[in-house]
Amino acid sequence: MTKQNIGFIGLGHMGLPMAHNLIKAGFKVKIYDVMDQNVSKAASLGGEAVSSLKQIPDHIDVMITMLPSGKEVKEVYQHLLPIIQSGTLLIDCSTIDVETARMIAEEAAQKKILMVDAPVSGGVTGAEKATLTFMVGGPLEAFKKAEPILKIMGKSIIHAGSSGNGQAVKICNNMMLAIQMLSVAEGFALAEKLGVSTKTLFDVSAHASGQCWSLTSYCPEPELVPTAPSNHNFEPGFTANMMYKDLRLATQAAQSNLAAIPLGAEATSLYALFCNNGNGMKDFSAIIQMIKGKNNINP
Ligand code: NAD
Repeated sequence: MTKQNIGFIGLGHMGLPMAHNLIKAGFKVKIYDVMDQNVSKAASLGGEAVSSLKQIPDHIDVMITMLPSGKEVKEVYQHLLPIIQSGTLLIDCSTIDVETARMIAEEAAQKKILMVDAPVSGGVTGAEKATLTFMVGGPLEAFKKAEPILKIMGKSIIHAGSSGNGQAVKICNNMMLAIQMLSVAEGFALAEKLGVSTKTLFDVSAHASGQCWSLTSYCPEPELVPTAPSNHNFEPGFTANMMYKDLRLATQAAQSNLAAIPLGAEATSLYALFCNNGNGMKDFSAIIQMIKGKNNINP
């Protein structure tokens, strides 16, 4: 593959290791973030820092954004869409609402600029190890151009259909994850009251119909799955705040599209309560403590 010039905006927990993987693969990566310390970290890894956002589009072939929410994504593209060259490929990897993703893609298409929404699953570890899953929405032509670049940062690249569909898949997946985690937490809470050990429930359910990723890969009870945050005082991982954000996106999307998501709505309320009790920066699996009646798990 010819090494394209890449612009990378948003160098936080996810963006920094993702940009690093592109640098390691030999790409020239121009970097920008509103936080100077994040720019310095990426520059020390080989990124080329620019002094203003508007310098990013000069001489780049691909622009990647990895920003907190739809608000920042809208703001950045409002500044950059008017000055981006028509041959540039735009890849937004942030998790944002489907409507905003579709609106920006439509504005880009009007300027004959190819764009995909490509939110990720796999967390910071996946970003560091380049094993992320990318759920990609956008025209096939844009997907084909984005795929080789995404492969450098991830191992599973899935075309989810038209613009916004990457975001749609992402929020459905995370809503399913939240509901599963709550179901596992309730199972352990009930088992405890019934005098069943966590190990016994785990050993049975891991090989029975209660099996799911939240149980066997990310168990909220400690000492059952070595890599799970429950073994480390629920240091994230994936924060409860992030899960709550994704659940709000799912709830909003369901309301706009008249979809019934009673369990998703309940999960949203439970994570709201959990985050409002001061637990937002804990891993999302820590919600088991609230289910067991402990409202604040900070030591
Ligand atoms: P983060 O807050 O660590 O990083 C976001 C970065 O964007 C920060 O460095 C911030 O300074 C920068 N930023 C904010 N506004 C900006 C602007 N206007 N211009 C330039 N830079 C700006 O967040 P993160 O954990 O890296 O997550 C990024 C996205 O990935 C989010 O949408 C999140 O939902 C999604 N995501 C995160 C995880 C995870 O485990 N952290 C997993 C999957 C998906």
